Amino acid sequence: MNQVDEVIKTLTLEEKASLLQGASFWYTQDIPEKGVPAIMMTDGPHGLRKQTGETDHLGIHMSVPATCFPSAAAMACSWDTALMEKVGAALGEECLKEGVSVLLGPGVNIKRSPLCGRNFEYFSEDPYLSSQMAKHHILGVQSQGVGTSIKHFAVNNQETCRMRVDSIVDERTLREIYLASFEAAVREAKPWTVMAAYNRVNGEFCCENEHLLGDILRNEWGYEGVVVSDWGATNDQVKGLRAGFDLRMPHCGRGATEKLVRAVQEGTLPEAVLDRSVRRVLTLVEKGIEHRIENYVCDMQAHHALAVRAAEESAVLLKNKDSVLPLSAEEKVAIIGGFAKNMRCQGGGSSHVNMTVRENVLAVLACEYPKTSFAFARGYRIKQDIPDEKYLEEALSVCADADKIVLFLGLPDRIESEGFDRKDMRLPANQIQLLERLFALGKPIAAVLMAGAPVEIPWLDRVDGLLALSTAGQGAAEACVHLLFGKSNPCGKLAESWPLALANTPCSLTYPQKERATYEEGIFVGYRYYDKKELPVLFPFGYGLSYTTWRYENLRLSETDITDRDSVEISVDVVNTGYVAGKEIVELYVRDIASSVPRPVKELKGFAKVACAPGERATVRFTLDKRSFAYYEPRISDWYAESGEYEILIGASSRDIRAAAKVCLTSTQTVAKKYDRFVTMGEIMASPAARAVMERTMGGMQMPAPSEEEKRRLLDEEDDTDVAMDYAAMGMDMPLCKVADMTEGIWTEERMEEILAALNGEQK
Ligand code: BGC
Repeated sequence: MNQVDEVIKTLTLEEKASLLQGASFWYTQDIPEKGVPAIMMTDGPHGLRKQTGETDHLGIHMSVPATCFPSAAAMACSWDTALMEKVGAALGEECLKEGVSVLLGPGVNIKRSPLCGRNFEYFSEDPYLSSQMAKHHILGVQSQGVGTSIKHFAVNNQETCRMRVDSIVDERTLREIYLASFEAAVREAKPWTVMAAYNRVNGEFCCENEHLLGDILRNEWGYEGVVVSDWGATNDQVKGLRAGFDLRMPHCGRGATEKLVRAVQEGTLPEAVLDRSVRRVLTLVEKGIEHRIENYVCDMQAHHALAVRAAEESAVLLKNKDSVLPLSAEEKVAIIGGFAKNMRCQGGGSSHVNMTVRENVLAVLACEYPKTSFAFARGYRIKQDIPDEKYLEEALSVCADADKIVLFLGLPDRIESEGFDRKDMRLPANQIQLLERLFALGKPIAAVLMAGAPVEIPWLDRVDGLLALSTAGQGAAEACVHLLFGKSNPCGKLAESWPLALANTPCSLTYPQKERATYEEGIFVGYRYYDKKELPVLFPFGYGLSYTTWRYENLRLSETDITDRDSVEISVDVVNTGYVAGKEIVELYVRDIASSVPRPVKELKGFAKVACAPGERATVRFTLDKRSFAYYEPRISDWYAESGEYEILIGASSRDIRAAAKVCLTSTQTVAKKYDRFVTMGEIMASPAARAVMERTMGGMQMPAPSEEEKRRLLDEEDDTDVAMDYAAMGMDMPLCKVADMTEGIWTEERMEEILAALNGEQK
């Protein structure tokens, strides 16, 4: 293709407008006579869903076989960014093989509620973990010359009415939680495209949202790639183009092109704005074509092996009473549960991959552990919820002479999928019934859970072991067997909190809302909420066990006194104190000890995964900078790290802090606050500068002292009638102008203005 600008010069207005929508479901528009080819964009994110026949955006029609890697919910539990990048590179290769130029993913929406049907496709409740995983997914895919589409931008946290719902969220929450999940990935990995979501944010559809696309994505983050619509998400493309949007997908008829042409002709859309988007789209097409490799061959076996490894690294051991796991090859094991045979490897919807390998636990077991004696029974039907006596009886009889029971449980696609949200956090009733009946046998039970999101586990005391596989992709069966028998040591940790009950979750009272989704919990999502409310959880964020144990020691800081322009280096040692090799995920949280605004108790700001042989020690290093300490301050439209003391917490989970140290930070920024007549006495008194002004101008604030009678009553041992004498506290919320009203004319308007001028002057 010629240089993009040269090509643009040769295009008619109609041709340019036609490039801003797809030519079909998955292809961009070509104009062969002007030398413009088309590229293919398709799902994603954790495997390729390339359709060659009928097309759809919900995973209904067939796609070519491709490796199904663990979905984002699982991969995030690996906390392994290097592994994520490897998986990304393998995904990129499969795109090259199939001539696909853009893989639609990763999905980085924050898990606001465990009920979101699509949580299996998203990484975490924590924006730092989410953006780091996304960054490496993107770097991996794009290392192969294939683009990505980070999605769904933004605040798309429910499936219910996703195409019309308006997410109402305040600016601080937007920046700290929902956009932070995108920000580092967009800035540092530069995805070729960003996919604008279906929903509205604060009244404007994402595809035409000036604040999201123009102010933040384009201007602040400097994003120069293509903003593509989610499939069918465009409403008013003219408005969208002005805001920073580009490409409407999929093809929706000539009418859309004609609208753009008319808008230019009528002067409502400057041609330069149209050209800007055309240039972005053509640059994308050029990149896609440039990296295309005819007849690319990739090693699909190696990709399957990588999928197995990724599934192993992502599994989380949640309970292991009396070391029920690992199993020994000599034990007689009863494998119970339909999911052992029909593994739940992925979720439903547009991300659904036609897997190259379909394994199940029984086949893998028979192949890898031929000497192990095991028997199998389905125990329940995956397709229905109602317990069936026939299956229950069969399971009980299979368990009769087993030493241990391995029980496979999980969520089926009909409960957890794109396009709708879960109604509750329960497992189907037939699975619970089965568990109860097996428990009555009194044999050790290890449960394996296959669900892309947390479930309520009131039955935790019924099982000795619990291994959460999540939606682990086509390597799930092999990984599961390796973990159960100790060939691999579990090393994943939860990327989201597991609440005790749905009722405890941050937005349980209102989620999901059909028209206006009001994000009233603000920044308090996931562990930020449970910590602040001091609520017990079933399993905390960052939690996961291993077949070995770890000691943390020797926390060191390069500095303990810094400004917000400095960075601080942190290191800590971990020692494998057990008998088998393993990997440990070390988590770093920052806590603002005394903040002037509400802040989470702690926030994740670093993590690392290290491998150690028994007895071995590894040193983990982190670097923290201003952003690690900052919150988003809307008054200055910037990140702000307040002066004061912060705690650095090193944890094995968010609720298992193993080492702590303090850092004193001095801010070089000021938050200029403009006081008006309604400044309260409390606010004046809280600021030393303001207080000084007050005292200078007014000769101090005289709060009424208790009367002699009140003092007497207070000292009288016999008199126990209640007295409210804290007049200072009572007056603290009194606005300056109201205090003036009460002084019978002593505080004049002029003097008040004088105070305000002095206050505002001093603050700047
Ligand atoms: C989904 C996207 C997907 C697109 C194309 C939409 O329904 O929200 O994530 O990439 O369809 O299949």
